[in-house]
Amino acid sequence: AKSLGRNRVQVFNSNLEATTADTLKLENELYKALERNELRLFYQPQFDCRTGRIIGAEALLRWEHQGKLVPPLDFIPFAEETGLIVPIGAWVLREACRQAQVWRMDTGWPLRMAVNLSAVQLDQPDIADQVSAALKRSGLDPKALEVEITETVVVRESLRAADVLTQLRQLGVSVAIDDFGVGYSSFGYLRELPVDRFKLDRSFLQAIPHSAGDCRLAAALIAMAHRLEVGIVAEGVETAEQMAFLKTHQCDEAQGYHLGRPMPAEGFAEMLRHHVQA
Ligand code: C2E
Ligand code: CA
Ligand code: CA
Ligand code: CA
Repeated sequence: AKSLGRNRVQVFNSNLEATTADTLKLENELYKALERNELRLFYQPQFDCRTGRIIGAEALLRWEHQGKLVPPLDFIPFAEETGLIVPIGAWVLREACRQAQVWRMDTGWPLRMAVNLSAVQLDQPDIADQVSAALKRSGLDPKALEVEITETVVVRESLRAADVLTQLRQLGVSVAIDDFGVGYSSFGYLRELPVDRFKLDRSFLQAIPHSAGDCRLAAALIAMAHRLEVGIVAEGVETAEQMAFLKTHQCDEAQGYHLGRPMPAEGFAEMLRHHVQA
């Protein structure tokens, strides 16, 4: 709590104009969200393109505030500025690991759980210890946990990021590069990057199959992942045509509204039960 206080002071100093009564109120509300149990995780399924089986779930944060579900992009930037993302992110890790372990025990299905880590969390010197603690507390096999880190963060802080990613992989956790293809400044960073998977940003899929150029680009990025021996997940799959394209080009995994929306734990559990029985 002390370090949070300090971070907040820094933010207020650098952003004085933005400090309106409204943002102060939002901050106070978000600060209480954890203790009031207002944070929720939604889960979106990830599928094997070839077999159609569920491989994993991505945990996506929601804030249930005054009867409404606040989407993450409306409060995560703010949580990052204030440092609140550190305790919030630690909660996400604990809750996602706990839930994954429950589902794996209940169904016997080898589900993988993907958790988004923000740049601010990655900057915490003890981030690997936090991940390790969440795993131990839940009993979850480290191999069942994947962390997602956006490409921009990895590119910007490539040395430090590679160091943290290596520590996480030494725990047995896998690492995915989120929003792959949008943030790069050069391909050089891909050479030695300690990662397991790329998540192809959904912007590459949007114009498929209508734009020949975009089809070629997406196909090339999938092929590149294969040549680098890194797995590839397509994000934001919204149509059957896009799914057919991904199968043709041997994309490994897919995630998107066409296959399954992010849903509350109860909904995901039900879907998983049906899937396992089928
Ligand atoms: P992301 O990690 O790229 O997550 C994918 C986003 O795309 C999610 O939005 C998901 O609901 C949405 N999505 C999934 N399938 C489709 C599709 O077919 N079409 C379209 N148009 N969108 C699709 P969401 O849940 O609003 O999350 C937004 C972002 O917030 C995430 O982007 C991630 O960067 C961040 N976020 C979410 N949960 C967490 C968290 O626990 N910690 C951190 N640090 N960031 C989080
Ligand atoms: Ca993600
Ligand atoms: Ca993404
Ligand atoms: Ca994104």
